[in-house]
Amino acid sequence: MAKKKKGEDKEMGKVAIYPGSFDPITYGHIDIIERALEIFDKVIIAIAENAEKRALFSVEERLGMIKNVFKDTPNVIVDSFKGLLVEYVSKTNAKVILRGLRATSDFEYEFHMASMNRSLNTHLDTLFMMTSKDYFFVSSRTIKEVAKLGGGVEGLVPDHVVRRLKEKFKLPVSKKKQIGWDD
Ligand code: ADP
Repeated sequence: MAKKKKGEDKEMGKVAIYPGSFDPITYGHIDIIERALEIFDKVIIAIAENAEKRALFSVEERLGMIKNVFKDTPNVIVDSFKGLLVEYVSKTNAKVILRGLRATSDFEYEFHMASMNRSLNTHLDTLFMMTSKDYFFVSSRTIKEVAKLGGGVEGLVPDHVVRRLKEKFKLPVSKKKQIGWDD
């Protein structure tokens, strides 16, 4: 049996880090987190602060929206980090990076990132979870594109995120736009 490192004890349990932009959080992300909680004792959601990627929501806004989703789930921690993911992970007691896969198009990038992270830290593994059939088409990017044009994203992101999107795009919060054959 591997010798325990200093500071590593039973109470810490199995911890996974779920990194991403979460701009904003969607039910696709939430589904992955809920399923991961069946496997891990704790999931740390880590918002990557990427200066090159222009985000719609500030890191503080994204932290707030995610914390709101998991306010009653003490084994979900919400945090943000700058720089290399492996360096951030090494400051925690996580051994696993969690990622979601939606399509084959996700695979190539994810395969390269997982291989690179493992070459930077051989103790780290990446665990991939397949998207659920209800959310395979959901990405933060498409949510923003649809919401910006006034399309309904209810059911794909939590209600408080729907409101924040409407505020960002200066759309009426109460008026629900329905798109149908009669329009
Ligand atoms: P997005 O591509 O939605 O902007 P993020 O950078 O926030 O995603 O993604 C964080 C992680 O969540 C990635 O591993 C991504 O593949 C995964 N993910 C995002 N949306 C979904 C979804 N609908 N189903 C499963 N995994 C997802």
